[in-house]
Amino acid sequence: MAVQQQINKFIQGIGASPGVITGKAYLLERFKVRLPQKRIDPGQVEEEVNRFLNAIQESRNQLTEIKEKILDPQMRKHSFILDVHVLILNDEMLIQDTVDTIRKKEVNAEWALDLTLEKLDTAFKAIEDEYLRERRSDLHYVSARIFRNLLGKKHDDITKIKGKVVIVAHDFSPADTLQIDLEHVAGFITDIGGKVSHTAILSRSLGIPAVVGLEVATSLINGGDILIIDGETGEVVINPTEEVSQSFIERKRRIKSFKREILKYASLPAETRDGVRVRLQANIEMVEEVSSAKMHGAEGIGLYRTEILYLNRKDLPTEEEHFQVYRRLAENISPATATIRTLDIGGDKFLPDYSKNNEMNPALGLRAIRFSMKETDIFKTQLRGILRASAHGKLRILFPMISGVEEILQTKAILGEVKKGLIKAKIPFDQEIEVGAMIEIPSASVTADLLAREVDFFSIGTNDLIQYALAVDRINEHVSYLYEPLHPAILRIIRMVVQLAHQAGISVAICGEMAAEPAYALILLGMGLDEFSMNPISIPKVKKVLRKSRFEETRLLVEQLFQLPTASEIECFMRKWMVKRFPDDFIECYPEEIKA
Ligand code: PEP
Ligand code: MG
Repeated sequence: MAVQQQINKFIQGIGASPGVITGKAYLLERFKVRLPQKRIDPGQVEEEVNRFLNAIQESRNQLTEIKEKILDPQMRKHSFILDVHVLILNDEMLIQDTVDTIRKKEVNAEWALDLTLEKLDTAFKAIEDEYLRERRSDLHYVSARIFRNLLGKKHDDITKIKGKVVIVAHDFSPADTLQIDLEHVAGFITDIGGKVSHTAILSRSLGIPAVVGLEVATSLINGGDILIIDGETGEVVINPTEEVSQSFIERKRRIKSFKREILKYASLPAETRDGVRVRLQANIEMVEEVSSAKMHGAEGIGLYRTEILYLNRKDLPTEEEHFQVYRRLAENISPATATIRTLDIGGDKFLPDYSKNNEMNPALGLRAIRFSMKETDIFKTQLRGILRASAHGKLRILFPMISGVEEILQTKAILGEVKKGLIKAKIPFDQEIEVGAMIEIPSASVTADLLAREVDFFSIGTNDLIQYALAVDRINEHVSYLYEPLHPAILRIIRMVVQLAHQAGISVAICGEMAAEPAYALILLGMGLDEFSMNPISIPKVKKVLRKSRFEETRLLVEQLFQLPTASEIECFMRKWMVKRFPDDFIECYPEEIKA
């Protein structure tokens, strides 16, 4: 049904993949199926089970066919996502739970599958990590396909689109993204979705401008409407007048040239004007992000989060799977180094089969290295995978949530056992592989001098360090006003850790979000940090301010900040200092909270 035509209507979504484009709207019918809920007779149960299993098989066949048809090598590189979707289709829990519900509750397949999805969805929603939480979108894409097959609905064939269009859909799957013909599709926008969904990651890698999470796009836009979309800011204008169109495009041109200017810094050394060299690296969660890391000037991967390998599945990753992923990582980033963090599960992130004991204080519970030390078989499998991959490039191992010396000694003992096993089996690995501890617990910070004797490097995880040092739950919005990176306690802890590490002759990295903000990065530089690891996109802007600064001035800045007693006074001082020092880079230099 056509909706009333909108003129000059601005709608705001989430910028998923940068680029400003204009095009005609092409409305795609997706994910808007009404699910019939019917009770069935006992005699119909087996027929219903078969109908469900057939829809699963049909979905598998469709995905395989889509994959086979992708000829573009750039697209093919990403088609592993379709394999992930086929894996979801093979998921025991998804199939068995639905079949059981059909049989026990005597309901139709659509209803039964919906009930299974509800359970899975609740589990996914509880995950704090945005990236992992967004993996639930993959489950939705797959289930939407099953539903459509159950209902005998046709899948819109986007490969047949002609002309230069902007696709407007309620949701858009990675399978859809991979089928886009770049000749005919300028970009896409969707009602739902987040920045770190597979679709968003793919569109960024493929350079297709996209805006997601617009909520009302499909209800406001008619096919054929003219749209301007800004994949960076998430703005969409429906049927802009000439005037709006011109000013929008002019504004975008200025931003674009600013961004282009920033990107020039990507390839320059991260060196201050007085010759102090630091290392800017990337935080990633998928090997596919290595190319973006390199493009933005990362000198290695400072944090490879491995949790995603354990997600979206009922079983555990095998040693071979670990090995293959880490090997690709090592080879792709070579000759630079990648730091692989061992599993940081527990607390707010969990594995379905291991989170039955509902902890009262999950953030203080069986998390990260504590989980690994309890489930040593899972831990050893991962360590063997990492060690084997270390024969194929330069890798370092990073242990999360280390609380003190005893824990690191026990952890290293296990690593030693795994190494011995490999030596005995004559399997090659880097025998000198460096081992590091995340510093994110106050007890680790105050014993940094002792810990430094046991590891080759530290990596400060400020996301958790702030939570534990200030006793502020990082996911509780009621106390978020107390989550202050510039709290005098946090600055003192970081400076102390750096000093103790340097006295012991080891290097210190930072891999928490703090590193990605230019203003914070300068303070960290002044405190003597050696390596900064952050999301790839932030690297050029951080590099730019580092290159424009002198280490000596940041050291003096830190001296001044240490005289101030409260976080708000430090923020205020910092704001004035930055405005004076970088008047032209104001917007880029400030973290949101101190821009005001
Ligand atoms: C941190 O705590 O700062 C960190 C980098 O780890 P995560 O955010 O994965 O807990
Ligand atoms: Mg952490």
